[in-house]
Amino acid sequence: MVWVFSIWMQSVKQVLSGEMLGKPVNVRGWVYRIRSSGSIIFAVVRDSSGIIQVTIKKGVVPEPDFEAAASTGIESSVTVEGTLAEDERAPGGYEVRAISFAVVGPSEPFPITEYQSTELLLDQRHLWIRSREQTAVMKVKDSMLRGARNWFHENDYVEVTPPIITGVSAEDSTTLFQLKYFDRFAYLSQSAQFYLESLIYSCDRVWSLTPSFRAEKSKTPRHLTEFWNLEMEAAWVDNEGNMKVQEELVSAMLRSVVEERSPELRLLGRDPAALEKIAPPFERMSYSEAMDELQEKGCDVLWGSDLGAVEERELTMDKEHPVFIVNYPKELKPFYMKENPEDARTYKNSDLLAPEGYGEIIGGSERETDNALIIERLKDVGESLDKYQWYIDLRKYGSVPHSGFGLGMERVVKWVCGLEHIRDAIPFPRTIARVYP
Ligand code: ATP
Ligand code: MG
Repeated sequence: MVWVFSIWMQSVKQVLSGEMLGKPVNVRGWVYRIRSSGSIIFAVVRDSSGIIQVTIKKGVVPEPDFEAAASTGIESSVTVEGTLAEDERAPGGYEVRAISFAVVGPSEPFPITEYQSTELLLDQRHLWIRSREQTAVMKVKDSMLRGARNWFHENDYVEVTPPIITGVSAEDSTTLFQLKYFDRFAYLSQSAQFYLESLIYSCDRVWSLTPSFRAEKSKTPRHLTEFWNLEMEAAWVDNEGNMKVQEELVSAMLRSVVEERSPELRLLGRDPAALEKIAPPFERMSYSEAMDELQEKGCDVLWGSDLGAVEERELTMDKEHPVFIVNYPKELKPFYMKENPEDARTYKNSDLLAPEGYGEIIGGSERETDNALIIERLKDVGESLDKYQWYIDLRKYGSVPHSGFGLGMERVVKWVCGLEHIRDAIPFPRTIARVYP
């Protein structure tokens, strides 16, 4: 058969719908499994949408096609023409009985077989991302991104494009990636927040999706050195309003996934019905209440200690819905947060923790509007005021109450897909030990 590039080829999913039963169908994809029993070859072909069995019989297909099928291996790319038949033993209940079969790109013996070490799978990441689990994760992420984008659009947010090369640290200056920038140094962005804050004076409500870079030196299953940060900033919004935006947004993202990717969720062992139930309002618990609860549970924490993975796990293990932890002690958070008028030891901020022990997925706060406080805190942490002059300027010309947050896409994907490690929430993970492939 001639190699056909054509839109009339059906996706595996369309073929598996059974509408074409008894009719001619065309499939193209990659060989997922193949075995031969003499005069009949069973190949399972996958494309992005699923897998389907193809039977290639000697005498039914031209001899060269049979020979091609007999000598081809997994991951070779193929095109098949045939008739759709029911077969309850085949995955999905249908098979294609080939009348022609062609190998488009042969495959050398595939380096990934069953039961491989984590290291090998990471070395072979460029090939491992073909796995059905990885494909499902990428599709879940795709739907969540679309759900978020639609939600922002429907709620009058402007999508903006902040820089990645910056001169300031928005989070923790110890995790900055420094970059030689002509005759001086610059940094890779840790957060777009300061730029988004500048943009609310014209656009009111803005959001952006950018990579954030953090030189995380510890190996944890929830830190990458490069992750996709979905950030928003809005004028006239206080900390409570900020949490409302977060719960609405996260719920919209979940609806989008459940609507579009329930088969993928099931393939990953997740129950779409459990995610579908998640809706606003989310529970709110103060940091102080969280500390009390942790102490009651026997954790070794004191007021003022940070909530790490262990504590967040303890707080959310038995929960089915996300929970906000509000009003953290100032020492634990960056300088730009708004002081809590009800307890000056704390900020008007929130971290959103995912249920089932997954922990932090969003960090957000109302922003400080008092320049004197900002300057004092910057001095306290030894930052040069020159670098932040433009940020300080924002409060001089028509300052407004405003709030915003950053949602780590891979953290949310890790939770939604039930992944053990965040590296599986991104096709090419960047960690302290790895930049290859
Ligand atoms: P953590 O305490 O877990 O390190 P953080 O307080 O540093 O998080 P923020 O600075 O508030 O996080 O960043 C906003 C969001 O970005 C976080 O809620 C999280 O979802 C995500 N995030 C932060 N650091 C990372 C990272 N290294 N890898 C992946 N996602 C991250
Ligand atoms: Mg951090």
